[in-house]
Amino acid sequence: MQNFMNRLRYQLARWMSGRYGGRDVLNFVFLGVSILLDILFMIFRIPILTFASLIPLGIAIFRTFSRNIQKRYDENRKFVNFFKNLAALRTHHIYRCPKCRQKIRIPRKGGKTVEITCPKCHEHFRKKI
Ligand SMILES: [Zn+2]
Repeated sequence: MQNFMNRLRYQLARWMSGRYGGRDVLNFVFLGVSILLDILFMIFRIPILTFASLIPLGIAIFRTFSRNIQKRYDENRKFVNFFKNLAALRTHHIYRCPKCRQKIRIPRKGGKTVEITCPKCHEHFRKKI
């Protein structure tokens, strides 16, 4: 039995080599949404919910076994960065330099007007932060 389990483990490891594996935030969210939809189905008994729960589950399974590791990694990075940027908007303003369009992140400080110097082209402009 021990031998059989070791062989099974070895076969699985061999089959998974070169595949993404799916241990990232994006897959965790897809699985969470799938479970949530199933829980909602159990509560409200709306049949479409159980079918809808298969979509994020299918995407999570696809990502786990995908061989395009770089693409899956980039998807996860974009997803995480989107929410990081969203959280940063609570504490910071994002302005664009009027001359070179460079994005500049300035901490919020309750309505004061400050002079901002663009780090790229050294253009000066005033903004209320
Ligand atoms: Zn600039």
